[in-house]
Amino acid sequence: MRVPLIAGNWKMNGSLALVEQFGQAFSKANLSSSIDMAILPPLPYLAAAQTAFEETPLWLGAQTVNPEPSGAYTGEVSASMLSEFGVRYVLVGHSERRSLYYEDDQAVLARTQAILNAGLTPILCVGETLAERDEGRTEAIVLNQVKAVFDALDARERQHVVIAYEPVWAIGTGRTATPEQAQAVHAAIRACLGDYDEQMASTLRLLYGGSMKRENAAELLAQPDIDGGLIGGASLKVDDFLAICQSVG
Ligand code: PEP
Repeated sequence: MRVPLIAGNWKMNGSLALVEQFGQAFSKANLSSSIDMAILPPLPYLAAAQTAFEETPLWLGAQTVNPEPSGAYTGEVSASMLSEFGVRYVLVGHSERRSLYYEDDQAVLARTQAILNAGLTPILCVGETLAERDEGRTEAIVLNQVKAVFDALDARERQHVVIAYEPVWAIGTGRTATPEQAQAVHAAIRACLGDYDEQMASTLRLLYGGSMKRENAAELLAQPDIDGGLIGGASLKVDDFLAICQSVG
C-alpha cells in the first residue's frame, strides 16, 4: 500500500566519480521494482547525476531550496530550477538546516510550499534533541514540527508530503534509535496525521533517519509504521546503500 522509499542524503560529500559509481552499480543491481530509491547529491552534481542515473531506478533529490521563485538571492536555488534537472524529492527541515542555518518552522513551511508548487515531493524532517528526549518531550516536539507545516497545507498538498523522523541525537553519531523507539514516534506521527484525514494518514510515507546502516536497516524497516529510510553516512558507500535498499522486506 505504501511504497517504501530509501533516500541517500550525501550532505556536502561526494564527487563526480561517486556519482558515476552509483550510476554504474545501480544500472546492473538486482533490486525490487516495488521500492523507490533516491540519491540527494550536492547541487553541482545534479546535471551529472541526471545523466548517470538515466538507466537506473534511482530518483534524484536535492538537499535544500529557496522558497522564492527567482530574484536577488545570491547562492540560492529555486524549486523550478531543481525541477529542470529531474529532481523529484527535496529535503526540508533537516536538523542541520534548522540548527546551522536557522531555518525555523516558518522557513520550513515556506520551502515546503515552494516544493509542492513546483510539483516536487518534500521530505519534511522532524526530530527531537537528546535534551528534549530526556525531558520526555519527544512527542510534543515532533508533532509540533509536523503541525507547523500540516496546519497550513490544504488536503491535496498534505498527501504529497513524505515525513522523515530523525532524532537529532542519532544523526551522524552512530547511535541509532531502537526499532521500538522509532516505531513509537512513527505511530504517534501517523495518529496525528489521522486527525487531519485518516486516508491521508494511512498512505503517507514515514521514513526513519539517524545512523541507519546495512546492519540495522532490516530491523528498522520491518516496523509497521516505518516506510523507508533517510540515510546519511551509509549512502556514501555504494555497497552499503545497495545493501540497505535490498533489505527492504
Ligand atoms: C541524515 O543526514 O539525514 C542522516 C540520517 O545521517 P546519518 O545516516 O549519517 O545519521
